[in-house]
Amino acid sequence: MSVIKLNQKSYENNLKQIIEKAENPSKIICVFKDNAYGHGAKILAPIPKKFGINFVAVKNEKEAYEIQEFFKNILILSHKPNGNENPQFIYALNEISKVKEYKTGTKIHLKIDTGMHRNGVFVENIEDAFFKIDKAGLILEGIFTHFSSADELDGSFFIQKQKFHQAKILAQKKYDHLIFHSFNSAALFRAQDIPKDELFRIGIAQFGYGDEKLEKILSLYAHKLSERILESGQSVGYGRSFSAYEKIKIATYDLGYADGLFRYNGKGDLALANHKNILGKISMDSFSCEDCGEEICVFNDANLWADFFNTISYEILVKLHPDIPRILV
Ligand SMILES: *Cc1c(COP(=O)(O)O)cnc(C)c1O
Repeated sequence: MSVIKLNQKSYENNLKQIIEKAENPSKIICVFKDNAYGHGAKILAPIPKKFGINFVAVKNEKEAYEIQEFFKNILILSHKPNGNENPQFIYALNEISKVKEYKTGTKIHLKIDTGMHRNGVFVENIEDAFFKIDKAGLILEGIFTHFSSADELDGSFFIQKQKFHQAKILAQKKYDHLIFHSFNSAALFRAQDIPKDELFRIGIAQFGYGDEKLEKILSLYAHKLSERILESGQSVGYGRSFSAYEKIKIATYDLGYADGLFRYNGKGDLALANHKNILGKISMDSFSCEDCGEEICVFNDANLWADFFNTISYEILVKLHPDIPRILV
């Protein structure tokens, strides 16, 4: 049975570093969307709580209910309003024209479009948005924005910061209790000046990515299903994409693309954590490689697989199937 091992010490170390940067655990919103980026929301949720973090962001209500007992404040990022919102949750208001579709009394954080152009209101329209929110009887608790290129800290980052600053000033004219947040992991770890009046929405840094001092917490393990000797010239797997050039002992392990691994097509060198290559194509529920014993670490650094598949660590991690057992080690 394959398994995901989560290193608790490393996770705690990462949280400590994030808290140090943010100066206070009450300034952190742990982003736990999509099963905590594939790590396992339920198994990790008690740990931030231990450090005094009581705010989390998730994708939808299903995810919110799953970890509700651990966090006082839960922000739901991608909710389609239906008039049946839970008064205990906080909902991101992504589209101002939908303001009447929420249940009266729903707590919201208004998204400001400072340049990402996925959702939210423009700064120029913020006062009109406040009016509509009040009229619909929603409870505005915060405003926030998201940077399109915090990992590059280019000109657009500073333009977006400036726009959000304007939004804060307009908000403060009308309200005196609002929460502000804009920084993600890359912004918190790379920006020179860190805002004193904001919370920080931290996703990937929790899991050890984005700064050298952070420790990757997830390792993915597969277990041996069977073994055999491949004679020179014999191939393994679909399409016979790998053939042995000498006698070799191979084994088949119990993880495949149905479990969330990317489908390797047998071309190029895709290596496991022990630097042995995968031999042949990845199947739906298995892959083969040189026999390395009963248990093998597929990866403990998603960047290596991300580079191979020309994607980012986020995508490698988030695809890991929720049914793979997760354990803290
Ligand atoms: C996913 C997400 C984050 C977290 O980003 P990281 O780069 O993982 O820190 C922050 N804010 C929003 C709106 C997000 O969707």
